[in-house]
Amino acid sequence: MLTVVGDTHMTLNREEKEQFVLLRSLFNNIGDAVYIIDPESANILDVNKAGYEDLGMEADEVLSHTVFSLQKDVLDIAHWREMLSVLKSSNTFVFSGHHVRKDGTEFPVEVHTNYLVHDGVEYLISIARDITERVRMQAELKTREPQLRYMLNAAGDGLWDWNILTDEVFFSPQLKRMLGYGPHEMKPHLDSWKSNVHPDDLPRVYGALQSHLQGENTRYDAEYRLRNRNGQYLWVHDHGTVCERNELGEATRVVGMVRNVTASKELEQKLRELASRDELTQLLNRRAGYEQFSRYLALSKRQGQPLSVALFDLDHFKQINDQCGHLVGDKVLKNTASLMAAELRKSDVLLRWGGEEFLLLMPDTDIMHAFKLCERLRRSFSQNAAQCELPHQTITLSGGIACYPANGNTIEDIVKCADDAMYKAKNAGRDKVCISDAP
Ligand code: GH3
Ligand code: MG
Ligand code: MG
Repeated sequence: MLTVVGDTHMTLNREEKEQFVLLRSLFNNIGDAVYIIDPESANILDVNKAGYEDLGMEADEVLSHTVFSLQKDVLDIAHWREMLSVLKSSNTFVFSGHHVRKDGTEFPVEVHTNYLVHDGVEYLISIARDITERVRMQAELKTREPQLRYMLNAAGDGLWDWNILTDEVFFSPQLKRMLGYGPHEMKPHLDSWKSNVHPDDLPRVYGALQSHLQGENTRYDAEYRLRNRNGQYLWVHDHGTVCERNELGEATRVVGMVRNVTASKELEQKLRELASRDELTQLLNRRAGYEQFSRYLALSKRQGQPLSVALFDLDHFKQINDQCGHLVGDKVLKNTASLMAAELRKSDVLLRWGGEEFLLLMPDTDIMHAFKLCERLRRSFSQNAAQCELPHQTITLSGGIACYPANGNTIEDIVKCADDAMYKAKNAGRDKVCISDAP
């Protein structure tokens, strides 16, 4: 083809010559090797830069070759004719073989060949891509296959691989086993996962996933509840990263690992529960109670509802300790907690605020309703308390009530008002409940 084009070149006008130079330059700058071949003789008629460089030859040297001398895997003329007939009938042909360099070394190629007739002359255009790296990776993958199979089956974590374009998800056998499914169960689709995430957790988990896909976080990481085949929820720790993006930078594939953390999560919850409870009375302790108080106060502010708070203190408790001993004092405290708790509504929260001081939170309750409730509680307590441990003693409570928003906007201000009201009750003779008179 060089000579054909060369002859034509002589008769071209200026514009055509410029176009020819441009096309020649494009031909030479194609990254893959391109060969123009005469189908009849299998001679190489033309080759671009990548082509002769791949072979370690000059352009002219390549032109003295045929397909047989360059392509190790085309066996003979019979084989060539067979390939030609397929090529002509389908117009295109993909062939994997080996090219031979000038120094005799070989390298694997994938050759895409097209059949073309121009001015009544037949040509083949072969584009050969050096696939040395691909072949090396395939070989490496093969040697790693047993390791990968072991990891997928026996490792503690389950693997997932999500194709974002199709929403197809590969779930590893271990992941399926973790959820109680067999290796051929669980539809390989995003919905199989999404429909089993606890509905309360889904918005948070999906949000974490989206912010990773959009590049806001370097990795997706979430702990949430995932339903197993029996309908029970497992706690899982799930993390993953985008491994493929399209030319616009959008994520197209994500892979990740899931671990069953139910046991440690339950232990963590138990420890947290233990840390938030007072050991003697089993009521919320002051620290956890303070957090609950903050939540209730924030909710009341948001919803424009009152929050009443009562502070109760046992009367002359020191005497009980002194006369009956500390252990009996402890039992009285314990009984006080359960007697008071028995009088409360579901939404009320009683906490141990200090030694023999109890704080009662009454959400969505105005001060008059709170007073009625606390009076009932005080009366019932003084009637029942003594019988528990000390049948011959009177045990009573004094209480002070304050309310958000009338007596303050902060926990400190509201408790201070309740405390002042409680001392008012003490000063008025004890076994009483007083309402804060603070503005
Ligand atoms: P008042 O009517 O003025 O409240 O008199 P009070 O004797 O109750 O006085 P105060 O509130 O000052 O005394 C509280 C006592 O409660 C002092 C402390 O030894 C006791 N106490 C605090 N925590 C515990 C506890 O966990 N167990 C026992 N047995 N006693 C406690
Ligand atoms: Mg006290
Ligand atoms: Mg006291």
